[in-house]
Amino acid sequence: SDDTLRVEGHEEIFYTNRETAPLSEVCIRLYPELLGIPMAVSGVRLNGAEVAHSSEPGVLWVRLDPPLEPGTTAVVGMDFSLTVATGETAGYGLLRLSDDILSLSFVLPMVAVFNEEGWALEPPAPHGDLVFSDASFFLVRVSAPEALTLVASGTEIERGADGERQEVTFAAGPARDFFLAASRRFVEHTETVGDVAVHSYTVPEFSETSLRAVEIAGNALGILEPMLGDYPYNELDIVTTDLDALGMEYPGIFAIALPLFEPESSLYPPVYLEATLVHELAHQWFFNLVGNDPAQEPWLDEALAQFATLSYFEQAYGLPGREGFLQSLHDRWQRVGGAPIPVGMPATAYTLQEYGAIVYGRGPLFVDELRRSLGVPAFESFLQDYVRSNRWGIATTQEFQALAEDHCGCSLAVLFEDWIGPE
Ligand SMILES: [Zn+2]
Repeated sequence: SDDTLRVEGHEEIFYTNRETAPLSEVCIRLYPELLGIPMAVSGVRLNGAEVAHSSEPGVLWVRLDPPLEPGTTAVVGMDFSLTVATGETAGYGLLRLSDDILSLSFVLPMVAVFNEEGWALEPPAPHGDLVFSDASFFLVRVSAPEALTLVASGTEIERGADGERQEVTFAAGPARDFFLAASRRFVEHTETVGDVAVHSYTVPEFSETSLRAVEIAGNALGILEPMLGDYPYNELDIVTTDLDALGMEYPGIFAIALPLFEPESSLYPPVYLEATLVHELAHQWFFNLVGNDPAQEPWLDEALAQFATLSYFEQAYGLPGREGFLQSLHDRWQRVGGAPIPVGMPATAYTLQEYGAIVYGRGPLFVDELRRSLGVPAFESFLQDYVRSNRWGIATTQEFQALAEDHCGCSLAVLFEDWIGPE
């Protein structure tokens, strides 16, 4: 209904300057505008008072006068609203109501990352991921029609009712984003693995696949945690949406395209579902726990998520599992004829076809090659160290290489030059 399509919110951002110099402005990203969905922002305030601000598509600049000193905090408040798209739309159907399922990606205005070059606002490629953010804590109170089942990042900590509406508060964090999906039709399946409750939400006719999904995700947690360190939350949600891509990662939750859950799908054999579930789960480490700039260095999360998927198939099914997934990576790379296009380029430097073939195909083959170069024990301790030392931070290719070189006590310049490309 119209009630579901209209999103209105008030947000307060507690922003601490963690840089070494004072900041004279704070840059807030309005991601829906990058998907072609306009966002209205009003009532912008700094520490409760009206403040000078300006905007351009996708970005809101708020003046900090006097400048915000390192270690001090400012509170930026604003009202925002947008109307969710229905039917065909740009941006993989991330912000859309379709098939009775509402997908609310990136609706909260979020502070951009400030790095050596200043505010990181590199325009994302149409084929790449959008969100580049520091980890933060989210406390989100949602008011929605009571018939909707709400699925979100984090944990539900409070619930009340107001007439025909439910009021639910979610706490999430540390996390790089907050995602919410909602539907009147969702049914839930749960499996608990260690201290993590894995929930899957889908439409009733796909219940059987949903049971399989929580089982696969549970097994994958059991394989990825020893390899990469603990999953950072005690809840993991899987939700089917009408996504144009096969899957999409968010903190503590990921979306899987509905057709992958369709029983006996003629389009997608079951291994597609398994590979997609594991890939999206692996993003909990590579994207959320360890951040990276998806516009500048998309391989850092995508190729590592693919490599984690390769490791999953190897450990779950032995050599045939490894060889099967390895073959799929070679097949991907062959979509550009196996051309030695560098893995480490910005997303916009690739065509759509190259992006899939190189970042998702050649990229994990590079990581596998790195494992061979370092030897398995050194590689395994490197990978754990990479996750541990960049936990809730932002990693770069340069740091990735330097750390790998630390672990082998060797120079990897030639290997990185051959695969990742010139520095
Ligand atoms: Zn991915």
